[in-house]
Parts: sequence; C-alpha cells; structure tokens
Amino acid sequence: MSTPSGDASLNRPRRERDLDALARGEVVDLLVVGGGVTGAGVALDAATRGLSVVLVEKHDLAFGTSRWSSKLVHGGLRYLASGAVGIAHESAVERHVLMTRTAPHLVAPFPQVVPLLPTVRPGHAALVRTGFAAGDLLRRAAGTPGSVLPRSRRVDAGRVRALAPTVRPDGLRGGLLAWDGQLCDDARLVVALARTAAAAGARVLTRCAASEVSGSGAVLTDTLTGARLDVRARMVVNAAGVWAGQVASDVRLRPSRGTHLVLPQSAFGGLGAGLTVPVPESTNRFVFALPAADRRVYVGLTDEDAPGPVPDVPTPSEPEIDFLLETVNTVLAEPVGRGDLLGTYSGLRPLLDASGERTADLSRKHAVLTAPDGLVTVVGGKLTTYRRMAQDAVDAALRASGADADPCRTRSVPLVGAAARDTLARIPAPAALVRRYGTESVDVVAAAGGDPALLEPLCPGVDTCAAELIFAVRHEGALDVEDLLDRRTRIGLSAADRAAAVPAARAALASG
Ligand SMILES: Cc1cc2nc3c(=O)[nH]c(=O)nc-3n(C[C@H](O)[C@H](O)[C@H](O)COP(=O)(O)OP(=O)(O)OC[C@H]3O[C@@H](n4cnc5c(N)ncnc54)[C@H](O)[C@@H]3O)c2cc1C
Repeated sequence: MSTPSGDASLNRPRRERDLDALARGEVVDLLVVGGGVTGAGVALDAATRGLSVVLVEKHDLAFGTSRWSSKLVHGGLRYLASGAVGIAHESAVERHVLMTRTAPHLVAPFPQVVPLLPTVRPGHAALVRTGFAAGDLLRRAAGTPGSVLPRSRRVDAGRVRALAPTVRPDGLRGGLLAWDGQLCDDARLVVALARTAAAAGARVLTRCAASEVSGSGAVLTDTLTGARLDVRARMVVNAAGVWAGQVASDVRLRPSRGTHLVLPQSAFGGLGAGLTVPVPESTNRFVFALPAADRRVYVGLTDEDAPGPVPDVPTPSEPEIDFLLETVNTVLAEPVGRGDLLGTYSGLRPLLDASGERTADLSRKHAVLTAPDGLVTVVGGKLTTYRRMAQDAVDAALRASGADADPCRTRSVPLVGAAARDTLARIPAPAALVRRYGTESVDVVAAAGGDPALLEPLCPGVDTCAAELIFAVRHEGALDVEDLLDRRTRIGLSAADRAAAVPAARAALASG
C-alpha cells in the first residue's frame, strides 16, 4: 500500500478553504478534538477508512504532551518488568510497524548502553541482562529482524568509552548494550501523521478550539479571528490528552510530569549511544542521556504527580533538575552542571485517575471510553502505540454510532516521506534532512530556490536550516514564529539558538 495520493500540504490558504467549507454547513463523519499524536493518528485512521474527517487543534499540531517526550519508540521492555505482557507485545509490534513500514525515515535504530560501574552490583547487572534478553524475545515475536534492531549483548569497557567518552573509567568492567527505536523528533511524527491524513482527505484545522463537545458535534472557535462555528458530526473523538477532562467532564485524569534537561553534545564528549544510568538505591529506575538532533543531548526523566490546573506549557521544578544532574553525574568522570544547560522541558502524561496509586504505578495502557451520548475519549498510552490507540478509538466510535466504514488500514499506510532504508540512503540530499523529511528532503532543498545560504545551519552548532522553515510554512501548516521554532523544528529548545533563529523564521513567514 502507498501513501494517500491527495494533497498533503497544509498552509494558511488551505485552512481558510476548509473553514469556509465547514461554515457552509457540511456534516462530517468524524470530528477529532486534539492535534497531538493520538488525534492525528485518529484522523489518519478514519480518513483511510473512507470517512470524511475534521481534526481541530486549539493551538498548533503537537502543541501538547506529544512534543515533550523522550522521543523513543519503545519495544515494551519496561512493561514486561511489571508483568504486562500484552502491552509489551503491543509496543514491540507497533515499533516494528513504524520502523519497517510506516515511518522508517522518522524512526532510527538506537543503541543504549548501561555502564557497569561498581555501583551496579553483579546481581543488578544480571537482572538488567535478563531484561534485555526478554526484550530480544519481544523483538523476535514482533517479527523485527536483527538487521533492523540488533540483539542485545555485553560489551567491554573500551566499547563503552567509545560510545560514551566521559563515562568514569575507574572500575568500569564493561557495559550492557541494547537497541530500541528513536524518533528524529516527536513533533515531526505528529506533523507527518496530520499531513498524511490531509492527503487522505481530512481537514486539519489548527488554532481552532472545540467547546460544548458532544457525541454529535461541537462549537469551534477560530482563535485567529474569534469566529465561531457549529460543526455537526456523526461521530466525535476526544483526543485532547491531558486536557481530555475539560472536553468531556466525566473523564478524570491524574497528570504526571516528566522533565528533561537539554545539554550540548560537547558536554558529553560526543555521545554515540543513549546512556542508561541506574538510579542509586533502585533496581528498576533509570535516568537516560539521549543524543538528539542539533548536536544536543536530552537527559530525563522524572515522574512527578502534577495535581491542580493543567498549564498550557508545564515547567520543571528545581528538585527535578537537581535529581537529573545528580543521577547522570554518578557515572560521569567529567560531571555536567547547571552551567551546561541549554534549556529544559517538561510534559504531562495523560494518565487515567486510579485514586491512591503513585503516578509511576498508574497504567500506561491506553483507555477508550464511550459516553452515553456517543462521545468517545481516547487517553493514556504513548507515542509508540498511537496507531493502535487510533484504531481502537475509531472502532469504538463506529460501534457507538452504528456507522459503517472500511476496516483499519494504517498498519500498511506509509506516512508522507516514508521509504525503505536502502531508498532513503540513496536520496541526493543532506543526511540530516533525509532523517527528518525522508523522500521529501529533496523538496526541502528545492524550497531554498538555489540559494545555498538557506541550506546553511541557522546558527552555530545546529543542523537546522532556513529552507526547512520555508517548507514548513508552505507545506506543514506553520502559521507563526512559534510553530516554526518550537514544533516544526526544535531549535527553540535552546533559548539562545531560538533568539538567533527568529529573523529567519520571520523571513520564511513573509516568503510563504
Ligand atoms: C516526559 C514524557 C516523556 C515521554 N516519552 C515517551 C517516549 O519516549 N515514547 C513514547 O512512546 N511515549 C512517551 N511519552 C508518552 C507520550 O508522549 C504521550 O502519551 C502522548 O504524546 C500523548 O499524546 P496525545 O495526543 O494523547 O496528547 P497531546 O499531545 O497533549 O495532544 C492533545 C492536544 O489536544 C489539544 N486540545 C486540548 N483541548 C482542546 C480543545 N478544547 N480543542 C482543540 N484542541 C484541544 C492540545 O492543544 C493538544 O495539542 C512521554 C510522555 C511524557 C510526559
């Protein structure tokens, strides 16, 4: 099966045309509230089943939790540890689908190493090794070959230091190496999903807030103009993440905050693998240092109960920052400190409330809830399993409404830009662009219009260029500077880099 053949471009003129069509009273099959990974996945699922779809997002695509993740496509190992074999297998299957069929351009094989230092006692190391072996079994059960994700193994101290040059050499007796999937960026997955849905005919409307949401429609407010619009739909899915309880009042969530630090690669001497650091005094908690785009390393993550009003953009607490720095420094000969920080980011996990339990113990399995009026809410889960969440939500909406549609097809629908790895390797465009845009990287180069300056890094130390900003305005629905710097690209994760890139973002918007 191939990517839907319609127009995948999102931009201001298309947004206006789509709003006009709705204002004329068009009745849609499915209205989706929320443009995170879950809502974009639902829109794609429904559009490729032949349904007419409108996706509305209050701010921008990936404005919520979906841009604040660790950007890993998990094989489900951590769920095995808690005995949740079903969720673990589901994760491994979804990772396989993403890496081999739907998004090989966005998800790369990612090595992660646990350095075996004196703080990791042999019994603990054996436990981790057993877990990694179980992860290999999961991978094989999902059908993922060793050529896509190599099996885990023990490596010697020299190899650990080659992958993580600033790890303490004293007492280092080797390391445990395992492989998982890593997204080039989480927000880019959301944008690719929304654009693929658009290519299948979905209307994708950002800056559109839904209120008075029921099983048969909602009031939409265009936050750019203030105009209000009544939309009627045969089915409605609430995919508003941590805000789902504001859209459907009978849904109760208990958000948990996860924080990451953003550091330069230079502070780690050039990290070639994820560094997995056991949290002292714990056998199953780890802090990760993850090499990322723009020559950065993300260090995460925490799990803090976050009661009270849900902020638009969560912020970390000082103790969370201290905890992450202290933990990662337990394995480093050259410690990192607050002076190295380029930035920090926090996201809220949309966990269903199960009163009394610690947030770390709440189920990460997704839930699909159908209200008496037919409104379907889909929450929980994770980026990795968005496709399955979407399938379950659309199935539930079809059941509730009695409507008919084709079976789910998304297992075999490649997202825009997807191609087999050997095809991607032959694309005549810079490797950093191919990793973010796949086959569309040639269109990003074309957006530079032959001006080589537009393909140069936007500021020293990053690999993002101005042509990406122009492409984002013309084809990825970016409407302002924030969309460009904080979601289509992630240059904004460093305040200094962000400030340097603002003029280029303004120029891209003017040229769009
Ligand atoms: C710190 C952290 C790290 C994580 N790391 C990983 C990881 O490495 N791998 C993984 O698989 N998962 C990870 N997860 C889990 C994953 O990020 C989330 O489960 C997922 O992103 C949730 O997506 P969502 O679409 O449900 O919610 P969101 O991304 O929050 O989307 C909801 C959207 O709804 C919009 N909205 C709200 N109200 C309205 C309204 N009234 N009208 C219109 N729109 C509205 C919001 O603006 C928002 O954009 C992590 C989570 C956290 C917090």
